[in-house]
Amino acid sequence: MKELDELYQSVILDHNRSPRNFHRLEGATAHAEGRNPLCGDQFEIWLKLDGELIADVAFLGQGCAISKASASMMTQAIKGKTVAEARALFEQFHQVVAGAGEEKLPAKLEVFRGVSAFPIRVKCATLSWHAMKQALEKRNHAVP
Ligand code: ZN
Repeated sequence: MKELDELYQSVILDHNRSPRNFHRLEGATAHAEGRNPLCGDQFEIWLKLDGELIADVAFLGQGCAISKASASMMTQAIKGKTVAEARALFEQFHQVVAGAGEEKLPAKLEVFRGVSAFPIRVKCATLSWHAMKQALEKRNHAVP
């Protein structure tokens, strides 16, 4: 992704190298998997909900730098938020990355705005977000 701004690139590479919340989550109450066969990205997301609060979130899996960094930053962005806030952030993030949103994202997530110039990468950047949303939709089902 040498086309991306250098600063943005270094943030993405940092999260790719040292992903945050990168582990299986014990006691999770929601779970989903995301796959992007175009790129080979594959992640599992776990959420621990306390009522409407996302008390904890973690992920595992593998994929390209964009997908992994995005998953890492997604977990940081929604931890401690409510389900409604996480859903709203998903919509906002999705629009910006797809190039359809002018809204400002929380500072760290702004690094993904540049992805909108690379349509094939949009799926990479949004994969974990879709999985998170899916997990929220089927929460309280059995978690593996
Ligand atoms: Zn990818």
